[in-house]
Amino acid sequence: MTEGQARDEIHWTVTATPAPECRQLDGRVEVDALVVGGGLTGCRTALGLAEAGTSVALVDGARIGWGASGRSGGQANPIWRQTPDELIEKLGRNHGERLVRTTLTAAQDLFADIARFGIDCDAVQSGWLQAAHSRKARDRMRLLGRAWAAAGMEIEELEGDALRRASGSSAYGFALRHAAGGHVQPLSLTRGYARAAITRGVQAFENAPISRLERVNGKWHAHAPGGVIVAENVVLATNAYSKGLWPDLHKTYYGLFSIAIVTRPLSETEQQEILPGKVTISDSRLAIYFARYDRDGRLIFGCVGSGERVGQLGGFQRLKRGLRTVFPQIAGIAIERKWAGRIAVTPEMMPHMHEPAPGVLAGLGYSGRGIVMTSVMGRALAARLLGTPPGDLPFPALPIRPIPFHGLVSRLIPLAAPAMTLRDRLDTLTDGL
Ligand SMILES: Cc1cc2nc3c(=O)[nH]c(=O)nc-3n(C[C@H](O)[C@H](O)[C@H](O)COP(=O)(O)OP(=O)(O)OC[C@H]3O[C@@H](n4cnc5c(N)ncnc54)[C@H](O)[C@@H]3O)c2cc1C
Repeated sequence: MTEGQARDEIHWTVTATPAPECRQLDGRVEVDALVVGGGLTGCRTALGLAEAGTSVALVDGARIGWGASGRSGGQANPIWRQTPDELIEKLGRNHGERLVRTTLTAAQDLFADIARFGIDCDAVQSGWLQAAHSRKARDRMRLLGRAWAAAGMEIEELEGDALRRASGSSAYGFALRHAAGGHVQPLSLTRGYARAAITRGVQAFENAPISRLERVNGKWHAHAPGGVIVAENVVLATNAYSKGLWPDLHKTYYGLFSIAIVTRPLSETEQQEILPGKVTISDSRLAIYFARYDRDGRLIFGCVGSGERVGQLGGFQRLKRGLRTVFPQIAGIAIERKWAGRIAVTPEMMPHMHEPAPGVLAGLGYSGRGIVMTSVMGRALAARLLGTPPGDLPFPALPIRPIPFHGLVSRLIPLAAPAMTLRDRLDTLTDGL
């Protein structure tokens, strides 16, 4: 399959539930709360606020789910890259322990949300395999798994034949199986949250990029081409697509790219061998390989990319090589579509919550774990606006601190994916399992 034969199209747009009815901004709108960004974070925040009776405007510069939420791999991966003790050390006892407790039920809470709001998003809680690509990664993963299991998470260690049967791959010698993991159709989930929010009175506007926020007589005025939204409170849920709206917000994370392909539907026999039972997989590589099925048995396979185009700096070739490495049984399979999106990766690979001015909140930087954690953040942002004290939330409110040399590092990001891939290959050669 050559690159040209795979269409540049986000697979989820083809299989998603219909888009919710949104309006075009035309004139002045006054609300209690404005949520900027119509991804999972923004839609879940707007929904939580509307449930509590707050009047809300939800705006996206493009469309609901246009950003990472509508492009995502859609894997619900429930744990962090740190152990519970490391989180407590990093965030302090109060926030650390709250975050650990929240994490233990986070995937369950997402699937419960989906059921409660009746969201049709092909949600399947079939488990997640977190696989190690090297001995060093295996040792770290074992420590991580045991620490979270001791805290109460249902995690099983798999090796050898058991792992090969559970994954259909011989590329790994060790993995954790997380029972709470699963997957969703991410665009349908985002649209579902938005639809539930609109049903509860949220005014949703598309094609309304907010270009300027100013404080006038104690209220925030948000300017977009069609008009102005006046609000007591503003939530910035713009994640890796943040740009210039709030000073330095986009300098608190590295804007990386994630790229994906989707194959033709696999036969029943192939599906019984590869990721049986529709379990998902992602691994410990820096340029992380991840795979899952869609509802029709197509395999979605992804890794880190170099830009908005999948093919940039050899991205399509890397995806095909990755697929061949993990599932050689289907190397050369027809690839129907390919697409890319932006992810926000913070230096400590944990999301950030900010409260940079009176009535302004931001939540972003999921570092590739957004499917579950955007809902945790959305609920936390809504709770904060509704009056929950900062100390009662799972995330501390951090100052907005630009990463040193952010501009220089950002310019080098396209090179990160090939460099990380090279490093991963060296790891496998010198330290493989
Ligand atoms: C290819 C890919 C694969 C991924 N796979 C996984 C996975 O398997 N599991 C997982 O947990 N995570 C995964 N992620 C990450 C996950 O999808 C994200 O963390 C999550 O979707 C972030 O949601 P969000 O709502 O915070 O941001 P987004 O969905 O990016 O939404 C931000 C929105 O803000 C809007 N916006 C920006 N600026 C403005 C403005 N000034 N005015 C108005 N609107 C504005 C944008 O248009 C955009 O729609 C993946 C991401 C990608 C790209």
